[in-house]
Amino acid sequence: MIVALEHVSKVYPGGVAALSRVSMRIAHGELVGIVGPSGSGKSTMLHLIGTLDRPSSGSVLIDGYDVAELSDRELSALRARTIGFVFQQFHLAAGVSALDNVADGLLYAGVALAERRRRALAALERVGLGHRVDHEPHEMSGGERQRVAIARAVVGDPPLLLADEPTGNLDSASGGAVLALLRELHAAGTTIVVITHDRDIAASLPRQVEMRDGQVVVRR
Ligand code: ADP
Repeated sequence: MIVALEHVSKVYPGGVAALSRVSMRIAHGELVGIVGPSGSGKSTMLHLIGTLDRPSSGSVLIDGYDVAELSDRELSALRARTIGFVFQQFHLAAGVSALDNVADGLLYAGVALAERRRRALAALERVGLGHRVDHEPHEMSGGERQRVAIARAVVGDPPLLLADEPTGNLDSASGGAVLALLRELHAAGTTIVVITHDRDIAASLPRQVEMRDGQVVVRR
């Protein structure tokens, strides 16, 4: 299992129970949609799977490691080698070329700049943007920006990719291209979790985990 949540609850300060005793497993090589309306706990789930937050109770195992047993430094190292993130808002650095935005995805891997750039070029070619390496984010379309963000997320070859509403800011054609790219990465072996409120997107994925009020209500 790359992800195993056992009876996971998350209570935020102020007492909001965002997740209540959720158990869920994701095997290596899956492509899973986590779907549900706003406020159902999807982002909380993503933060826990992404090791960006810790549960109030229950256990979160990522690639076999119990996050409760790791120091902050060990957790950062686990995250850096295991998980790539893609966000709705792209989160690219303004005024920085596509090549260096992607190369920055290897900053914590201890790789020298020339090698970071070489791998960034390969990642950009993989997402079909080998001809846009010198473009800055403002010179690219939304769909191209998201493909750069995906290249940055996979440049270090993490086994797990977490995508939070990856098509939320895109028109349907660019959104479809981004989903097609995620399917290609999945076919090449990456485990992918897509968070979405869009039922059509979720329905197009091989597995869906449906959330409501902090609980998993349907598994397919
Ligand atoms: P979704 O991503 O499905 O919209 P969230 O995981 O963001 O759902 O939110 C689940 C619940 O937890 C909501 O009631 C939300 O208001 C609450 N919540 C989320 N983040 C926080 C926070 N940092 N502090 C307090 N409450 C939060």
